[in-house]
Amino acid sequence: MKCEFCGKGVTQTWQLTDFWQFKPKSQQPICQECWGKFTPIIGPTCQECGRASQQDLCEDCQIWLGDGYPPLNNQALFKYDDMMHDYFQQYKFRGGYHLRTVFQSALQKRLAEVSADMIVPIPVSPDTLAMRGFNQVNGLLEICETNDILCCISHNKSVQSLKTRQDRLNTVQPFMCQMGNLDLTGQRICLVDDVYTTGRTLRHAATCLYECGAKQICTITLAR
Ligand SMILES: [Zn+2]
Ligand SMILES: [Zn+2]
Repeated sequence: MKCEFCGKGVTQTWQLTDFWQFKPKSQQPICQECWGKFTPIIGPTCQECGRASQQDLCEDCQIWLGDGYPPLNNQALFKYDDMMHDYFQQYKFRGGYHLRTVFQSALQKRLAEVSADMIVPIPVSPDTLAMRGFNQVNGLLEICETNDILCCISHNKSVQSLKTRQDRLNTVQPFMCQMGNLDLTGQRICLVDDVYTTGRTLRHAATCLYECGAKQICTITLAR
């Protein structure tokens, strides 16, 4: 099998659990060398957005919290650098659905460390789903138990800049909750998204879940 990034051969290893669960060989779509080019975020981070930072609260987050949004305490696993950019290009925009497996274990491990009653993925809009064919966040969470209670009712792509308070407050809430029989009252929820960019998407989602009764929300993103 060849590495999806550099084309070199990838050595496959059987794991004991593969026998127990009668699974085929673990498929690792990238080689160790490419894996090593991703940059894990370790050590001092902004407590709110999870970026590497010497400040407890980076300047962007001071502004968000100043606007009165509830805290997210986001944890991000990797830096959004050129390597991560290439990954998302292939995974999301060039139909690389098989690349969903690259970070599944890392995300599953981090989620196990968070005490949450529910793991809720950020949804994509129906248009994006139709075009892409999959929700990239659900792909990353394939081996985790999730509650898909958020749905995306509108695009919110037009506002790229959140420089002024008006820019931030004027954006439309793109989400609604579809809870079925679930009751969110008193629940601790971990929201998961692929990338933390401006933080707007996660804040809209958190607001929506708080309005439905959630007690506490934290967020995890693959990249920041
Ligand atoms: Zn490689
Ligand atoms: Zn921050």
